[in-house]
Amino acid sequence: MARGRKERSDAARWSGATKDMARGRKERSDAARWSGATKDMARGRKERSDAARWSGATARFANILFSGPCNLRCPDCIGRRLVPRPDNLDRFPLAGLDRFCGLLRRLGVTQVTLTGTNTDPQLYRHEAALIAALRARVPGARLNLHTNGVLALRRIETFNRYDRACISLPSFEPDTCRRMTGSARVLPLARILAAARIPVKISTLVTEHNVAEVPSIVARCRALGIRRMALRRRHGDPRRYPLLAGHRPVRRFAGNPVFDVDGIEVTVWDFGATTLDCLNLLSDGTISGAYLLERAS
Ligand code: SF4
Repeated sequence: MARGRKERSDAARWSGATKDMARGRKERSDAARWSGATKDMARGRKERSDAARWSGATARFANILFSGPCNLRCPDCIGRRLVPRPDNLDRFPLAGLDRFCGLLRRLGVTQVTLTGTNTDPQLYRHEAALIAALRARVPGARLNLHTNGVLALRRIETFNRYDRACISLPSFEPDTCRRMTGSARVLPLARILAAARIPVKISTLVTEHNVAEVPSIVARCRALGIRRMALRRRHGDPRRYPLLAGHRPVRRFAGNPVFDVDGIEVTVWDFGATTLDCLNLLSDGTISGAYLLERAS
């Protein structure tokens, strides 16, 4: 009798639990069912808001900007002046990549540069996968790598998957390199060019450390077969070094003068004067249309 009473009391006690468990299962299944719908609705809202926000955009270029530790320590690194953003060197897919690719397709932007705010894009651990994803998702994509060149030879197979590359080169002098990058190692440009299967442009930031070397840097690049260079003025530097004195610009690009220096095309790039519409994907998934990254929000 005692066992019978206990069994009846257990049955009464646990019948509620069974109902609770069943309710819990249903709620979980509803949650699973509708979480997809909520995500779809959120995505739809984001796409509509993107379409409204960027409807008048005339961007021709796009940048994917990585954040994380770098293999150089340049005192003039732009990343030192920007709001810190999360390290995304090990993240695939990148935050915001779907939206960004959708936007590029909608706006017809095909020129996409992989670069960094405070790191080098060749440090990104999924570089080859990202190149493949961009080619699959952005029809006609022309991919450009903007790198410090430190890993170019070690990652030459991936390097050659881009359509073109721009390598930052401060100097051919070890002491100047040390002042400008924290490393006295001179980039082995001749070896990189010998291994490259894509066009390579050189970009040189001009500061008090290398301004006297500019003519010899241009001449040496030319002798190595480089056909395009950019001499970049330091953003916010009030000093106006007379670069390429004696040469006249042959045209302008994005507000910057372009010179022909003995067969090599040299653009003197001034960030403050540049008029360039571009879209930037930042490491936290933010998409910004500001050319100057200080203004990206
Ligand atoms: S190589 Fe580029 S990202 Fe790295 S520290 Fe120098 S300027 Fe910054």
